[in-house]
Amino acid sequence: NDRLATVDPEVAEAVGAELHRQQSTLEMIASENFAPQSVMEAQGTVLTNKYAEGYPGKRYYGGCEHVDVVERLALDRIKDLFGATYANVQPHSGAQANSAAMFALLKPGDTILGLDLAHGGHLTHGMRLNFSGKLYNVVPYHVSEDDHRIDMDEVARLARENKPQMIIAGWSAYPRQLDFARYRAIADEVGAYLMVDMAHFAGLVAAGLHPNPIPHAHVVTTTTHKTLGGPRGGVILSGDQELTKKFNSAVFPGQQGGPLEHVIAGKATAFKIAATAEFADRQRRTLEGAQILAERLQSADAAQAGVQIVSGGTDVHLVLVDLRHSELDGQQAEDRLHAIGITVNRNAVPNDPRPPMVTSGLRIGTPALATRGFGKEEFSEVADIIAEALQPTIDEATSTRLRARVEALATKHPLYPHL
Ligand code: PLP
Repeated sequence: NDRLATVDPEVAEAVGAELHRQQSTLEMIASENFAPQSVMEAQGTVLTNKYAEGYPGKRYYGGCEHVDVVERLALDRIKDLFGATYANVQPHSGAQANSAAMFALLKPGDTILGLDLAHGGHLTHGMRLNFSGKLYNVVPYHVSEDDHRIDMDEVARLARENKPQMIIAGWSAYPRQLDFARYRAIADEVGAYLMVDMAHFAGLVAAGLHPNPIPHAHVVTTTTHKTLGGPRGGVILSGDQELTKKFNSAVFPGQQGGPLEHVIAGKATAFKIAATAEFADRQRRTLEGAQILAERLQSADAAQAGVQIVSGGTDVHLVLVDLRHSELDGQQAEDRLHAIGITVNRNAVPNDPRPPMVTSGLRIGTPALATRGFGKEEFSEVADIIAEALQPTIDEATSTRLRARVEALATKHPLYPHL
């Protein structure tokens, strides 16, 4: 008997406990989702055994005829999904997709413009300790003080002043859509490449609920496990045929050795699912849920408790809660929700006075609950629960009552019932 539970009961037990945690709590980390069982099944196949350095039809190893079929399916499906002419599905993660795309178009020492991490950008967009901050000369741009929207006039000014080789548009914690055409006009004016990192909102784009960056950008990168709902991984896309060769060689041999063909199989299946009407409906409920949450957390009792919403609302799958006027800091608010069975992450808000390990905000996302089947009614209930939990003080009885309401919602929408 070669089953996990027999060979390694300690790991099996932790996996079982994690399944129970996911089933019995409400997952609202904006970058997370639940991969369908079909996708997890694809990932757990014999494809994990296969070395396939190179690309379909041009491998450095024998015996690649079947993994070629899988990788071609993934490539064709994702190009169709986003209207791209080029795709690379081999990056092991979003960070690696970004490093390969940057490696393809930049030299060390080149200048990049990226959204400041403290204003919602990602580590790979120029954070000091990341490869992007070490290899490139980083000029961060910001959201404006008054409306918390990206200050495109500042982007234009910094581009003219610093003449970057690349402008990066994309975010990890920003509740609004981006003006891709304006970014491209600025990039063209200064002769920079435009890279859009749509890791967070790719699922919304696939469903036609968010503008598509492909027609505007030289290169688009994404993760496959956030709103897109697939296995963990990264992808590079482009509509610019001339750049194709550079991206392929930047991924392999530039950044990686053998591709993870079992994960690529999961990606192929996820991209098939992402083209369905059910997926589009799920993305619609994701957006609806975020809007319900933003509205509820701006009603009188929440405002009274010092809760505010960054930018006054949302156009995407997350809301950023500003707790600078609340008695709770980000850490306390995260712990408060954790205690009643709701998982979120604390997050800096623009111009946050507290350190990054504490913060004055929460990032709350709806993709995973929409995958679980939540609609208007359930999201209204969740929003009510969160609003009550973020009151300055709650007693033990209230906490117990809120936890019971969370459990009722989890029971109403079972997760992975066949696992
Ligand atoms: N890009 C953005 C905008 C992200 O938010 C993230 C992950 O949070 C990444 C890239 C990196 O993805 P990964 O964690 O797969 O490396």
